[in-house]
Amino acid sequence: MDSWSRNFELLIKSRTPLIWIRTKEEERLYKIIDQSCEKLNIKRFVSWDCVNGIKGVLNENGKFSNNPLGVLNWIKEQKSELPTILLVRDFHKFYDDPSISRTIKELSSSLRETHNNLILSSHILPSSEELDDLITIINLPLPDLSELTALIKKIAFNTDSDLSEQDLNELAIASSGLSEIKVKQVTAKALTQRGKISKYDIKDILEEKKQVIARSEILEFFESKSSQNDIGGLKLLKTWLKQRYRAFSKEAQEYGLPIPKGVLLVGPQGTGKSLIAKSISKSWSMPLLRLDVGRLFSSLVGSSEARTRETISRAEAMSPCILWIDEIDKGFGGDARSDGGTSQRVLASLLTWMAEKESAVFVIATANAIDKLPAELLRKGRFDEIFFLDLPNSEERLSILDLHLKKRRPSYDFPLSTIIDRTDGYSGAELEQAVIEGMHFSFSENRELMEKDLIKAVSELVPLSRTAKEQIEFLKEWSSTGRARSAS
Ligand code: ADP
Repeated sequence: MDSWSRNFELLIKSRTPLIWIRTKEEERLYKIIDQSCEKLNIKRFVSWDCVNGIKGVLNENGKFSNNPLGVLNWIKEQKSELPTILLVRDFHKFYDDPSISRTIKELSSSLRETHNNLILSSHILPSSEELDDLITIINLPLPDLSELTALIKKIAFNTDSDLSEQDLNELAIASSGLSEIKVKQVTAKALTQRGKISKYDIKDILEEKKQVIARSEILEFFESKSSQNDIGGLKLLKTWLKQRYRAFSKEAQEYGLPIPKGVLLVGPQGTGKSLIAKSISKSWSMPLLRLDVGRLFSSLVGSSEARTRETISRAEAMSPCILWIDEIDKGFGGDARSDGGTSQRVLASLLTWMAEKESAVFVIATANAIDKLPAELLRKGRFDEIFFLDLPNSEERLSILDLHLKKRRPSYDFPLSTIIDRTDGYSGAELEQAVIEGMHFSFSENRELMEKDLIKAVSELVPLSRTAKEQIEFLKEWSSTGRARSAS
């Protein structure tokens, strides 16, 4: 938080009169500003909310409850030499009132003549375009490792819990991604159950993190059982991923390698894109967070951007982790004019983040089509690499079929060559489907699976490559122009 506080103090010192801070952690924000006031020698730190009114000025305490306009006029009238910082909470609820937004507009110039600052805080921003020009908007990030360590240390001290340095460190790392209040809640639960906190609370903390992610609606914790051994073919992609994994190590950082950004996987449906995302999580032992692009956009216009930022900061706080943006083409395929430019702005925040990203969040984006994907996303440098996953060739089909057969009928012993010859244009998902279909035939006749069952299954299945021929041809052509690397 040191760098956030330094940045905030710089804004105050450089006479930035209006600052809007986006956070859900009101108490923590209050504490942080209070510490900054002390450092900046600002003696008058006043807060306001609509129930309690003004707090922090002797003769004014409790004033202006239920009167947001009153408190704005109050700071306007403070002309003394004593610099004042006024923090007003939940102001997004009042901003739509024309007299409020007008007064804030006026304050943006009149406060410049004084030593006073107005800080507005809320967990979302009002949807107003003029806001950007008037107010400096910043996010309060979730507590960082040093804050979490200090917090847990304090709780341990107050409760006579004996924590080794290593336990403390592990608890703090496990808590990353949680707000201060959540950490306090989890530790309070541990205290009532066991009377002290210990490294055994990590389990509860991780559970809480899952809950937080579940509540975010847009992110989902994905428990993956698939490993790289469950993937047939795609050799080049698998080798590339192995190399990238090593780039996360401390040695790689010392060697001067940047932390990998991520990869975009493009290809027809059922070629194993999602399977790759799931398997990396297991092989890299990193949590997999699946971002639901559809939900991101289903929120109200304006709040999609806020949600994107919140989602990103949640994922960052969870790092090292894998952020899987599933079917990215569905979200950004819309017409910019029809959604008021929301998808453009969400895309812009996502791209800026990816360009500047230093955290260990590896992004895997998957797309079935590229014709609707914005060009910015496909430009070099956004992702570390773009891979094209084509329909499997005969060798790959053999290994995919063998994998799925071994999974379900481990003792099968019939040749696969005839089936391979008859499945040109079938995706991995369709091959799996054929195995299941074949098993239905044999099961209904109370016998072991045979070659003829699979032959029957594949002959009855109409692969997507036949029904969506043009779309797949288009993808192939696009990838052959060197814009994407082949995954196999
Ligand atoms: P996509 O995300 O490309 O649409 P999926 O990864 O969801 O495709 O594939 C669906 C299912 O098909 C997978 O869960 C897996 O069982 C099977 N599958 C697809 N490709 C492969 C592959 N290369 N190796 C093994 N199984 C595969």
